[in-house]
Amino acid sequence: MAGIPASPRLSLFSETRVAVLLPLPLAGAYDYLAPEGEVPPPGTLVRVPLGRREVVGVVLGPGDGEVEAEKLKPLSVILPLPPLPSALLALVDWVAAYTVHPRGAVLRMALSVPDALEAPKGISAWVARPGGERDLLRLTSARKRVLAVLADHGAMPFATADLAREAAVTPSVVTAMGKAGLLQPLTLSREWEPPQPDTERSGFPLSGEQGAAAARLRERVGEGFSTTLLDGVTGSGKTEVYFEAIAETLRRGRQALVLLPEIALAAQWPERFASRFGVEPVQWHSQMGPVARKKAWRATALGRAPVVVGARSALFLPFPDLGLIVVDEEHDSAFKQEDGVTYNARDMAVVRGRLGHFPVVLASATPSLETIENARQGRYGHILLPSRHGGASLPTIELVDLRRHKPEKWRPEPPPVVDGEPVRHEPFRMGWLSPPLVQATRDTLAAGEQVLLYLNRRGYAPLTLCRTCGYRIQCPRCTAWLVEHRRTGCLRCHHCDFQMPLPGACPACEATDSLAPCGPGVERLAEEALFRFPDARLEIAASDTLPGPKEARAMAERVRSGAVNLIVGTQIMAKGHHFPALTLVGVVDGDLGLSGGDLRAAERTHQMLHQVAGRAGRAERPGRVLIQTVEPNHPVMEALATGDADRFIETETEERRALSWPPHGRLVALIVSATDAAAAQATARALGRTAPLVAGVDVLGPAPAPLAMLRGRHRHRLLLKAERGIRVQGLVVEWLARTAIPSGVKVQVDVDPLSFL
Ligand code: ADP
Ligand code: ZN
Repeated sequence: MAGIPASPRLSLFSETRVAVLLPLPLAGAYDYLAPEGEVPPPGTLVRVPLGRREVVGVVLGPGDGEVEAEKLKPLSVILPLPPLPSALLALVDWVAAYTVHPRGAVLRMALSVPDALEAPKGISAWVARPGGERDLLRLTSARKRVLAVLADHGAMPFATADLAREAAVTPSVVTAMGKAGLLQPLTLSREWEPPQPDTERSGFPLSGEQGAAAARLRERVGEGFSTTLLDGVTGSGKTEVYFEAIAETLRRGRQALVLLPEIALAAQWPERFASRFGVEPVQWHSQMGPVARKKAWRATALGRAPVVVGARSALFLPFPDLGLIVVDEEHDSAFKQEDGVTYNARDMAVVRGRLGHFPVVLASATPSLETIENARQGRYGHILLPSRHGGASLPTIELVDLRRHKPEKWRPEPPPVVDGEPVRHEPFRMGWLSPPLVQATRDTLAAGEQVLLYLNRRGYAPLTLCRTCGYRIQCPRCTAWLVEHRRTGCLRCHHCDFQMPLPGACPACEATDSLAPCGPGVERLAEEALFRFPDARLEIAASDTLPGPKEARAMAERVRSGAVNLIVGTQIMAKGHHFPALTLVGVVDGDLGLSGGDLRAAERTHQMLHQVAGRAGRAERPGRVLIQTVEPNHPVMEALATGDADRFIETETEERRALSWPPHGRLVALIVSATDAAAAQATARALGRTAPLVAGVDVLGPAPAPLAMLRGRHRHRLLLKAERGIRVQGLVVEWLARTAIPSGVKVQVDVDPLSFL
């Protein structure tokens, strides 16, 4: 007990031991002593001593009794919160076992707001003191008014300021009366009570197709666990349909959770929820400050948040009575967490539903191959919404072969002025907009409609090259080029956020005026667009210009009001938005994302372009999409142009089946990293030698990772590939156990990897 102040809070304890899991990267629980007669049930949140610190943990159950009782320390405090629900504890165990991460590391995600464990400070308030009227005659008129207000409102307590206002006295009159014993003090809870959704409000009248889908989802609610794929084209009304499942869940008095990719949250979702249910839902995302997070966590834990909409980590909120999860845009790779505990919130949502015996709905216009396969095998239900709501037609998609339609070069007109003189020899600049796309944009703007030019690249140029020596400016900590951001005048690494000012001379050969941007980002594309469409009301939409939901909503408002009619945007614009006057989408580089040899490159490009195409023509006016490509015969481009997604999915699935790639086989990646290059390589090789030799299992690698260095750490990868029926986690645990991993070397396990960088 040395160094730990004896806790004055719980002093009586007998020998009842409890196992407490701490939110630290530890697999096991520690035993502590619980106070006599007060053995906390599993899930109870407690504070315990750990070394010289005190940490929060969760009681799992009786301790295992290995450590002698004299050596155990008592719990310091039992926190006054409902115990974490057993389904959440079960989820923590499940995720830990499935992802091969310590249980404590998973628990940390459920206790991500330590502040939330403290009740908010109360407000001091007053009620009348019984018998206080006795001396009424001797009171000043101000004091009489105060008592009269309290008498008028029965037992209702008043905060000081409110009471003073009602009685038309100064607050000091009220506090003085408290001191004089004329009023009784009391503390009011400042616990947040989120506004309650109104399930009796009706939404839009649903179409026949939508109504049937909603009825099927409503039936699932209350029937225990099920997973249903809600598979509907963009604009078919999937949101309106799953709102009905939420309403049904609320009518049954249970909570609902909607998971969205972070950036889709920023769009119009909360407003749409409010127009259906009268109030905005409780939100949970990374842009929220600590106060808002605390409020949301507590409201959820106390069962006061009927509906939470959040990014992936909302899955670990302590809902006491969760009755439905909807995962919207289920195919989105944003549901995969790549740092720390690598888990896919879409898949773990299904697990949470099974553990909590409630339905899970996966919604998408472009479901992942994994989900499609699960639906085919009958593991998931499948509801189709094949047409856009209100007779809006799907946009026509045309390919523009960039080899035949080369973008024209351009130069600023009139020439820029330097030192009072127009520059006569301004060089021609590269263009990225082909004549057909330029024409279509011009026509659309002239018709009073709106255009989205889509390029999924932030900044000005993805590469800065020295024209004299060919040097390419790289991040000092990562195997990545620095991206020029002209608005902020710097070069930035998109992997580690390293930044430096754009140098005046080449860092290698010191030639001046020799550094040239290569390739376009949205900022550079906007320059060309402003030249070609000088009257356009242009705005750049990227995470740099729209860092949070507030900015994104303001921008959506500018588009809806027509203050903006030409958007140059990254993937931040690809989903969730509904702009009735947006009728043309131009995809500037359709091939971006197809290279790189990632097994899902084609699938992901198809999903992304399909989503962004889905922004066009969502209302009465039909939409048109032009995709610029140098590979018009690529299966992805053909699928988009013909609208035959099914055939594309069929071919993709067959190719993967032949090679036993997911969903027909299982993958686990090991990423070995260290600041010391030799140590990283030696450990990777050692893992190669100790790899499991089991039928149906192949280990590929080790090989240097494509991102061979990240944040100063050297990286190597191994990939375990197994037949579907093989339980890979056990193999990985044994594999790691028989390999010596020196300190300083980290082995990150990634089950079901999505990224292969
Ligand atoms: P999805 O999520 O399938 O792309 P949404 O749910 O976003 O489709 O619906 C597209 C648009 O159509 C939204 O603006 C929505 O409010 C509107 N909408 C959908 N269904 C109806 C309906 N039954 N009545 C009126 N408007 C609807
Ligand atoms: Zn970097």
